[in-house]
This record gives sequence, structure tokens and C-alpha cells, in this order.
Amino acid sequence: MRKLIDGIVEFRNHVLPSYRKTFGRLATEQKPDALFIACCDSRVVPNLFASTDPGDLFVIRNVGNFVPPAHSAGSVSEGAAIEYSIQALNVRDVIVCGHSECGATKALLTPPMYHAPHLAQWLRFGEDVVAKFRMGFAPDKSLLPHDQISQLNTLVQIENLKTYASIRSRWEQGSLRFHAWWFDIRTADVYAYEPDREKFVVIDEKTAKRILLRLQKEEGLGRPSMVL
Ligand SMILES: [Zn+2]
Repeated sequence: MRKLIDGIVEFRNHVLPSYRKTFGRLATEQKPDALFIACCDSRVVPNLFASTDPGDLFVIRNVGNFVPPAHSAGSVSEGAAIEYSIQALNVRDVIVCGHSECGATKALLTPPMYHAPHLAQWLRFGEDVVAKFRMGFAPDKSLLPHDQISQLNTLVQIENLKTYASIRSRWEQGSLRFHAWWFDIRTADVYAYEPDREKFVVIDEKTAKRILLRLQKEEGLGRPSMVL
């Protein structure tokens, strides 16, 4: 805990002065750009790798970045956050972000030896992903099996998002876009799934331009293209 406590003092003394205006502006309202669904893993750091500021991302984190289908057991907490972000905050983009060496996807392949009934129940939301993987679906077959599953998982969870009425209606109106991202911890590269290439591509300057151009075109069409 020492690092955390010292970190708060460090923030107050050295970082906060440059953020005072931002927090003052955000004090009574938030207008985040995106709903960001990520794994609980401590190494996945969206504020760092996407250089985001306070107020930019509305974040849901859970083990394995799963989205339980609407009205299924386990959907209440996440469903509440989804509905709030879509209906109260009007976010226009939803990102599902997986990552390399994810403990959840590893546990899907090799169930943990320790007694964890809640974890075992939660991991059931990844069973259909494993089934698809065993049928041969995977965006990048050069990766280790658990990383292939982790990438595939982001795409499947986007399909699960569409089971929520608020998401589905915004998406069908063309006012909501989906993005599947994947964070490689070893290199700290962030990948985005590019539907036309059917694979995850590292977001460098060149890819960023292409993604932004695609999003601009989709805006003109009024209905964003599907990720899957
Ligand atoms: Zn994880």
C-alpha cells in the first residue's frame, strides 16, 4: 500500500496543479467519448496507452472483458452500466478491449485448481468463444491458443452487446459504433480489428489514419458496418 499512499501525495503535490481546470469542468457532469469494456487485469492501462484524460472513458471492467447476454444470469451489473452510458451519457462508440496472457482465457482452456465457484460460474460466459475457437475461428492463428481466444472473445462480446435493446436500437439507427481492440502487454502495442482485413492490426500512425477514414465514411452511410 505504501506505493499507493505515497502516490496520492505525489499526485496532490506535482500532478494535480495541471489538472485542476479539467476536474473543475468535470465536477458536475461527464460526457465521455466511449464506453470501454476491459478485463480487470492490472496490466491493462487504457488511460496510459490511449493517453486519455479524466472524463474521456466510461469504463466497465470484469474478469475476461465478457458481456453476458441481456437478461442472462450475470447481466444486471454490466447491463446497468451499458444502459446508463448509452441512454444517459449518449456515448457513440463502444470498445471491447482484450489483452495478451489473459488469465480468464487461460482458465477457459485449463480450469483453475483452486476452489472458486463464482469464477467458475462467470467463466461460462466464455464457453461459446472456446466453442467457436475449436471450430477453427480465430483472427490470428499464429498466436498462442489463449491469445487467439482472447482476440476472438472481443468479437463475440460485441455480438453479445447487440442483445441489449438500448445498444441494438442505437446501432440500427447508425448512432453507435463498435470497436474490438487488443492490448499486447509485452510490447504495449494496441491492435484494432479491421473488418475489411478480418484481422487485428497494430494502431500506428498509418492504421490510425485508415481507421479514422473508415469511421468517417461509415458516418456518411448512417449505419456503421458490423465488426463481425
Ligand atoms: Zn484478462
